[in-house]
Amino acid sequence: MQPFDYYRPKTFEEASELLTQPDRTALAIAGGTDVIPQTRDRDRVGARDQVGGRNRQLDLVVDIKGLPGMRDLVLRRIVSCCGTGPDECLYVGAAVRMNEIARSSIVQDHWPILADAAASIGNEQIRNRATIGGNICTASPAADSAPALYVLDASVLIKGPRGEDRCLPVAQFFTGPKKNALKRGEIVAGLLIPKPPAGARSYHEKLSRRRAGDLSIVSVAALAFRSAECTTWRLALGAVGPTPVRAPAAEAILARGYDAEAIDLAAATAFGCCCPIADIRSGLEYRQAMVVNLTRKAIRAVAAQLPQA
Ligand SMILES: Cc1cc2nc3c(=O)[nH]c(=O)nc-3n(C[C@H](O)[C@H](O)[C@H](O)COP(=O)(O)OP(=O)(O)OC[C@H]3O[C@@H](n4cnc5c(N)ncnc54)[C@H](O)[C@@H]3O)c2cc1C
Repeated sequence: MQPFDYYRPKTFEEASELLTQPDRTALAIAGGTDVIPQTRDRDRVGARDQVGGRNRQLDLVVDIKGLPGMRDLVLRRIVSCCGTGPDECLYVGAAVRMNEIARSSIVQDHWPILADAAASIGNEQIRNRATIGGNICTASPAADSAPALYVLDASVLIKGPRGEDRCLPVAQFFTGPKKNALKRGEIVAGLLIPKPPAGARSYHEKLSRRRAGDLSIVSVAALAFRSAECTTWRLALGAVGPTPVRAPAAEAILARGYDAEAIDLAAATAFGCCCPIADIRSGLEYRQAMVVNLTRKAIRAVAAQLPQA
């Protein structure tokens, strides 16, 4: 592996400055579970640097774990961010590790689908290093936290090089395979996740070649809640297109009712929202069949938990 310099700045401004030095190829690092294997395996950095996705030799890594708020996992009252609030939200600092999320009693009690998604990532050692910010910034279509974050309507909080803040719905953060919405010098500070409406039920399912330590062939997140007028459904899938996807057409079918026939139709319709490919983890036909099967399973699991009308 080529040598590189390592910095651990204390402020966002300092971190952004390091990431934007004109004569150097710099990369943010959190847990390093994506950065280090890519750097080691290719000798030249495989991860995109922050300049237009070019592959150049990495000579500087900027450890963002010590920046303010990066390790916070707390409840916050936020008045307005991408439409969320003023209800209580979960603030998850970008450098919070998957095992911290999976084992948090706050997350398990109010955002159980996020705890399940975090627990499905990698294995024990990986989850002790891998961060939620790293998971979304890598922007793999198979990022296992993504479908849960999509159905939870999470927002990504971003710090800019001049200290400016911006906030994006998580679905707008993923822009293509391994591409995200960050501009040069920007850093993800954390995620803001609204509390699901009272009575919401959810389910996360991941299919991979091995029980642990492998990326998804398909992953599905489903969430639903009843009001006096209707039942609202949210469905999202991972590893079935260039980015994780919501399945609004399937959600609309379920909003009209969710008997066995409607569930079959919604699962088949969710398939139309995806464009799966064959890769080392799965052939195309198997992955296509699993989109329908897993979606049906997830919807059934949520429907079974919902209170009767
Ligand atoms: C054996 C193994 C198994 C794995 N299994 C899974 C799995 O089952 N599911 C899954 O989804 N992933 C899996 N992964 C991938 C990886 O562990 C996750 O994507 C992890 O969440 C990445 O987090 P990290 O903190 O290690 O990121 P890092 O490697 O530190 O960074 C990843 C990328 O994000 C950028 N970055 C990190 N944090 C920030 C930030 N705050 N702001 C701006 N940019 C940032 C970095 O520059 C880099 O480009 C696996 C990896 C390995 C090695």
